[in-house]
Amino acid sequence: MTTVLVAGAGQSGFQAAASLRDKGFAGRVVLIGDEPGVPYQRPPLSKQYLQGTAGVDALHLRPQDFFNDKDIELVDGRVAAINRAESTVTLEDGTSLEYDHLVLATGARNRPLPVPGADLEGVLGLRTRDDADSLRAALEQAKDVVVIGGGFIGLEFAAHAGRPVTVVEAQDRLLARVATPEISAHFAALHEQAGATLILGHGVTALHGDGKVESVELTDGRRLPADLVVIGVGVLPETALAEEAGLKVDNGIVVDEHLTTSDPKIFAVGDCANFPCVHAGQATRLESVQNAVDQARWVAATITGAPAPYDSVPWFWTDQLGNKLQIAGIGTGADHLLVTGDKDAGKFSILAFREDVLIAVESVNRPSDHVSARRLLAATKPVTLDELRAAEFDLKGLAK
Ligand code: FAD
Repeated sequence: MTTVLVAGAGQSGFQAAASLRDKGFAGRVVLIGDEPGVPYQRPPLSKQYLQGTAGVDALHLRPQDFFNDKDIELVDGRVAAINRAESTVTLEDGTSLEYDHLVLATGARNRPLPVPGADLEGVLGLRTRDDADSLRAALEQAKDVVVIGGGFIGLEFAAHAGRPVTVVEAQDRLLARVATPEISAHFAALHEQAGATLILGHGVTALHGDGKVESVELTDGRRLPADLVVIGVGVLPETALAEEAGLKVDNGIVVDEHLTTSDPKIFAVGDCANFPCVHAGQATRLESVQNAVDQARWVAATITGAPAPYDSVPWFWTDQLGNKLQIAGIGTGADHLLVTGDKDAGKFSILAFREDVLIAVESVNRPSDHVSARRLLAATKPVTLDELRAAEFDLKGLAK
């Protein structure tokens, strides 16, 4: 019987296992994860779960019954090594499992803040359910909360913490790595209106305290009082297993257009995979639910005999302070931006072009623009600025 082992039971690992069954795979499917319980989703951790409006059951991707019914073996353990010559993996407890196909879905871990004091009590990150539980408990006691990093995680935490916080960002705008300046300005205004203090263009040099954090020192020497510090400075892909097994690794596990690693029996998907992204025009590693889910589906298709080059349109969302930002496509390298909709009413989209071709659309509270943008960006023929102008920037009309 053919065996597929999936290392990592997060969003993409779960999806790989589920999609194999959806596609009629009749062999053995073993999903190995080092976090306790059934696989869960991360997005609510910095939203409803943090806020306390969603409980632990709402995190689960499926209940235990699903795994029993689909004959997906859930193994609670950590894959410690891959033996490629024998096509086996070894778990930390010494168990050895054979595979015909191995899917690496090991995700990412929080990037540590490389400053003195980062290991003090009261300094926390947000990646796992355990992290979210610790943060919820810490928030009940904390007086002065400082968030380091004005990216999605830091801002979602700030939006759902239930109290004003201070956000420190080394770049001169929020979301600098992932969104256009218009979007940064919109979300900065929202957070300020909600009572947050934003300190932009300043890094952090040290965290101080006697066992427990008491202050955050900035590059200009200022010290901000803090008894809870949340670090949101990005993630590092979990590549150690792949690297030790001699697979090619470069900002993630390097895969080809079929998401196959340098070993044809081994795939990598989700946050840990660096893949040739047709929409970015270069090797890319993405951290999103869409990427995790679609890549897992593609690999399941390959294993079940229907391979196709991976070409899904990247998309992403974030919810903050009653505003939904949705991003379709990859805007890196845009040379022209256009705003449509009503900025004053907080319902608008930014259209990003490269050489007069639409490459990305960021929509704030305009879900129909987002859905249309995904359709337009998926079309084989690129959509040009002239076509959009002729259609009076009606994305929905053009996408029909
Ligand atoms: P993960 O979901 O991280 O799963 C990897 C799993 O593998 C983990 O459980 C890990 O412990 C396990 N693992 C690692 N190594 C081993 C090993 N050797 N053996 C066994 N198990 C192992 N994306 C969006 O699109 N929209 C959002 O709003 C959004 N919000 C987010 C909020 C938070 C707080 C976080 C942390 C992420 C958010 N994301 C969001 C990103 C999204 O959740 C990730 O991109 C997605 O979870 C990636 O899936 P993955 O399977 O690659 O990795």
